[in-house]
This record gives sequence, structure tokens and C-alpha cells, in this order.
Amino acid sequence: MRAAVMTEPGSVRVGPADDPRPGPGEVTVEVALTGICGTDLHILDGEFATARFPVTPGHEVTGSVVEAGPGVTGPRPGDRVVVDPGVPCRACAWCREGRLNLCANRLAIGVSLPGGAAELVAVPAINCHVVDPAVDDRTAVLTEPLACVLHAFDLAPSPAAAEVLVYGAGTVGLLTAQMARRLGADRVTVVDPNESRLPGARKAGADEALPDARESAVDAWPLVLDASGAGPAIGDGLRRLRRGGTFVQIGVAAPTTEVPLSPYEVFAGELTIRGSMTTRDTFARAVRTLVAGAVDTSMIVGTAVPLSRYAEALDLARSGESLKVVVEPGR
Ligand SMILES: [Zn+2]
Ligand SMILES: [Zn+2]
Repeated sequence: MRAAVMTEPGSVRVGPADDPRPGPGEVTVEVALTGICGTDLHILDGEFATARFPVTPGHEVTGSVVEAGPGVTGPRPGDRVVVDPGVPCRACAWCREGRLNLCANRLAIGVSLPGGAAELVAVPAINCHVVDPAVDDRTAVLTEPLACVLHAFDLAPSPAAAEVLVYGAGTVGLLTAQMARRLGADRVTVVDPNESRLPGARKAGADEALPDARESAVDAWPLVLDASGAGPAIGDGLRRLRRGGTFVQIGVAAPTTEVPLSPYEVFAGELTIRGSMTTRDTFARAVRTLVAGAVDTSMIVGTAVPLSRYAEALDLARSGESLKVVVEPGR
């Protein structure tokens, strides 16, 4: 098969690789589409602490099972699946509490295990969720980011009848805006300095889409979610919480990013600042949400790029000039 490999930070190439064979409890998936997101860029830039080089990236994977290893009762060869990238140890203190996404020994497909920027990938069968035929590949490939967004809303107070401010109009921001709407938000505002993304935010259900939040009030928002990972946006968002408000960090910031924070404001306003780390018990729900047609993917997923042009696909994703870039290994 052919696969993309990040050999070390800053270096990526596509070439031949051995076909993976499924071990006990694993299946081999023939990849239909793999999404590229900011995490892949952080890995390439050497800014993702849990990455292990060399690695085949790709943690947003949809495809079809072609082979099942010993002991696998499902999914079966021929099943279309999406792959939950998280591989927890199921033994550490956090796993025993059921907080699998916080596992102290967590591995992740496409980060520390081979990922989906390849024609084939072997993954634990338990990580596969069968996809309804009514959901096409371009929608199914959004399951992982949608599961991240559903986890964030699990941690946040209900957005029902509330004003919600979202930073970032990339994939996660647009999914966040759509879910805030669906969960009954009274008003959704999306902020992104890349003005080419603002029409997509409006299409995703935002009442207003702004290049910066200056036009909106400081100290006014009960719920602010950052889907940008950008320090200036996060610092700005923290200032815009109203008393009793909650800020949720979904976007992945670089480990060196720091933002100003007023402990007095946190105290006096009883502010809540929450991190939302990938997914927990939300993958199956994300699949069902996509089956229900609750998410409009038309303003999110851009054109598919063949695997041979993986490095270009990363550059395109970094430029922010495209909708979500997806890689199609079978082309
Ligand atoms: Zn991602
Ligand atoms: Zn663990």
C-alpha cells in the first residue's frame, strides 16, 4: 500500500509501506476519506507532545473493513465504519474512573499509532462504529470533530435560550455553531479574523459572523467556546464572559501559548473555565447525530485531495483558504 509518513517534525513524505495485517481484536480498514485538521499541523510542527515519530497521521477516518483479526465479532468485512482514534490503557486511575480521554497512557490513531493517511490502516475493532448507508463519506468523515463538539457541550451549561459566542469558523467552530443552534441557543455569534470563512458561519446558523469581537459587548456572554486555539482569540473570549459565565476550550493551542487572565474577575464573577479534551462517550452519539441529518456539512468539507499530494493538502489546510481538506487514499 501507500502511506504518508511524518518522519520527524517538519518532514512528511508519501511512499510504499507494508500492508497492515489485523492483530487480535483488530480490523483492517480500507480508507475512503481522512480529514486533515489543526492537530495534524501541530504534529508536523513538533508541537504535539503525545506524537511519536515516525507516524502516519490521520485521526479522522472513514472507510470499509476489509479484514478482521482473531477474536473479532464485529464489525465484519464489508462494513462501512468511522474510527474513534483514542486508544486508552483501561488500567490507569483515570480509565478506572471512566475518564478514558484523560488516560495517563493514552495512545491515539494518527498521533502515536498509524493513522488514516494511508490506503489501509489496522485499528482496534472496538474503536470502529458502523455507519448508516444514508450517511455519505463526506459527512461521515466529520464524526470525530463532531464527537469533540458534543463532548464540549456535555461539559458546558445548556446553551438553551442563551447567547453563545464561538471563536473560530473552521470545522469545529462551524459544528459548534450548528450544535449550539440545535441545542436551543437564543443567539449564536461566530468570530474569525479570516473573513472568507464568515459566510460559512452564517450558513451554519450564526446570527452574526464577525472578523473580530470588538463590535460585540465585553462582559456580556454566558457561554463562550474557543474553537480556534489562537491565544489572542482565547484572551479576548475570556474577557467577554458575563458574571457566572463559562468558557470552554475546545481548540488545540500550542503548548507555549499563554493568555492574560484576571483572577479577580474569575473570583468576582464566579467564572468557569473548562477544557474539553477530544471525546468521551460521544462517538456513537455523533454517528447518530449525523444519521439524523442534524449537521449540514456543505459549508464544511472541501474538495478531496489524492494521497500522493498529502504534503500539499497540509499546506492548503494551513493556509485557511479552503474548507476542510480531506484526503482520498483510493484516488
Ligand atoms: Zn482533528
Ligand atoms: Zn488509562
